[in-house]
Amino acid sequence: MSSAPTDTQKELAHLARALKAPRLLAAAQRLAPIARESNWSHEQYLAAVLSQEVSSREASGSLIRIKAAGFDSVKTLEDFNYDFQPAAPRDVIAHLSTGAYLQEGRNIVLLGPPGTGKTHLATALGVKACGLGHRVLSASATTWVNRLTASYRAGNLTKDLAKLRRYPSLIVDKVGYIPFETEAANLFFQLVSSRYEHASLILTSNLPFSGWGEVFGNHVVASAVIDRIVHHAEVVTLKGSSYRLKNTNTTLPSEKQENKAQ
Ligand code: ADP
Ligand code: MG
Repeated sequence: MSSAPTDTQKELAHLARALKAPRLLAAAQRLAPIARESNWSHEQYLAAVLSQEVSSREASGSLIRIKAAGFDSVKTLEDFNYDFQPAAPRDVIAHLSTGAYLQEGRNIVLLGPPGTGKTHLATALGVKACGLGHRVLSASATTWVNRLTASYRAGNLTKDLAKLRRYPSLIVDKVGYIPFETEAANLFFQLVSSRYEHASLILTSNLPFSGWGEVFGNHVVASAVIDRIVHHAEVVTLKGSSYRLKNTNTTLPSEKQENKAQ
């Protein structure tokens, strides 16, 4: 592009601005000498420039979606060490990373003791979904319930649930960490029902399903919730000791105290 007349460069700069594609100009200039040297056709050059623009738009779109998802800290599948967590089914997780579950409105449930990588995997799958162009929102179960309570009390629950259905994936972290009051349990049920067979949920819990009755304060509500979640879901149960404590000699209390230990 260095030999291109200044007027053409100016026009390109103007056109790139008009298209709201400021990086297009840089790509056009960078690729022009390569195209000349390699005898690309005009069509090949145009395709190369546009494909650069599309990739950088996709990359910045992913970053925007990752930021908007509200992850506590961003984790990736590449950072997950399977040697430390042999109970994690690599093939299932690899399949989930393709995002096919999102089209089908399937859920993912990650169960297991504290520190076994539940939030890491949930977040990493959420990050993948963002990269695939899907909007994701992540929060703890308590935060979700607080939001739904506020919507309900303001008379906006139906509207809020409809708005949330436009997110292909919601991550509900730490189910069971704090037991729900009756109203909260019912609102959680409404969230699960509203997404059933429409949009995905990724849930994490330190408690097995058998412990969810106590979380919901009511076995009927807990069963209704579990029934809808599990009908179309991958349930992954992680095992072992906490990754957080791997370089220490600490052992966490087990069983009933698990959910308080995090
Ligand atoms: P949980 O949600 O099960 O309590 P986390 O996913 O928050 O556990 O994991 C605790 C910390 O240990 C996080 O910083 C996480 O990134 C890390 N971690 C856990 N398991 C692994 C693993 N198998 N490979 C790499 N990092 C891990
Ligand atoms: Mg966690």
